[in-house]
Amino acid sequence: MSTEKPDGHKLPFLPFALPEIGEEEIAEVVDTLRSGWVTTGPKARQFEQAFAAYLAGDGQTDANALHCIAVNSATAGLHLALEALGIGPGDEVITTTHTFTATAEVVRYLGADVKLVDIDPATLNIDLVALEAAITPKTKAIMPVHYAGLAVDMDAVQAIARKHGVKVVEDAAHALPTTWQGKLIGLHDSDAIVFSFYANKTMTTGEGGMLVTRNAALAARAKVMRLHGINRDAFDRFTAKVPSWYYEIVAPGFKYNLTDIAAALGLHQLKRIDGFQVQREHIAQRFDAAFADLPLVLPPRPVNAGDLHAWHLYVVRLSDEAIAQGITRDGVIDSLFADGIGVSVHYIPLHLHPYWRDRYGLKPETFPHSQKAYERMVSLPLYTRMTEADTDRVIAAVRKACGR
Ligand SMILES: *Cc1c(COP(=O)(O)O)cnc(C)c1O
Repeated sequence: MSTEKPDGHKLPFLPFALPEIGEEEIAEVVDTLRSGWVTTGPKARQFEQAFAAYLAGDGQTDANALHCIAVNSATAGLHLALEALGIGPGDEVITTTHTFTATAEVVRYLGADVKLVDIDPATLNIDLVALEAAITPKTKAIMPVHYAGLAVDMDAVQAIARKHGVKVVEDAAHALPTTWQGKLIGLHDSDAIVFSFYANKTMTTGEGGMLVTRNAALAARAKVMRLHGINRDAFDRFTAKVPSWYYEIVAPGFKYNLTDIAAALGLHQLKRIDGFQVQREHIAQRFDAAFADLPLVLPPRPVNAGDLHAWHLYVVRLSDEAIAQGITRDGVIDSLFADGIGVSVHYIPLHLHPYWRDRYGLKPETFPHSQKAYERMVSLPLYTRMTEADTDRVIAAVRKACGR
């Protein structure tokens, strides 16, 4: 798929997402490969420490109070967090229908049940009124998702959690770096916060994630369960200067550790994350300005002045005016694709997927805001490797798709 330039040359397809891997990341990976230690070891630990230092960079937080646990995916981190909180059969966990299935599937891993609620159409984040109304005596935890990189109102979440005595596990897969009231996501008073370093996220380790908690007991349990239920780290076992072959299995754990190869990428990606955010913000601002006259609902901005949006996603929705003009989501997607622009839809809501729909007998009418958003939304390419010309190209293609 490509577009004709006036001189007859084809422009290459612009992918929906591309990672930004620099020479420092590559050198660090090579160094890891040459070191003789490729699985979880010194670099994974260094990455955890660097992540804690990054979050604590506001100067008001003690990095030592933040337990950062590197895992091989955010899905793993969410699973470990809920497991450590003791979620199990008979329990309910509430989250948004407008998310990736990973947020909800981990609840099912543990035999607990998921209660899905609708979104607030103003933010595309979980509707906090619907969230509170969905709490029952069985509810053990709530899982806010900072959709696209826009913070959920963490003051409201914490107030609800305190009032009803439920745990909070934040799905922060999109939210590095995002702030709520000037404080980074990761530093709010939740039981656990989980970031993703999947290939298309705001920083990547190929596959990877970070579980953050201030709860020492939760951290200890998650570390044991991260590696087979062994009561000590493999790295300690193999590098100790005294004989240390002995270990004990204290639980049927998982295999969720992050390799040093992946952590090598993370160490350098993390150093660049604030710069990445500035670049993403710049593209988002260019889109906002260029689309202001189009029949589109542009992505919501942070409600508090000065708060950061991570801009993992730039999601436009067709306005009523666009629908009245006969513009459709699928038509826009086809038009963009014909112009060589990769796009996506975030998300096909969970209530429409056969597993979730059938297990809980879900109907679209129960989730009118998510349903409407889904039917009208397109995610545009937004990533640091996009050039100004790439951004221009997306802008021109979107304007054309809207008949301008
Ligand atoms: C990407 C993503 C995840 C899962 O992250 P992995 O690191 O791929 O496991 C979870 N929740 C949301 C909202 C995501 O976008």
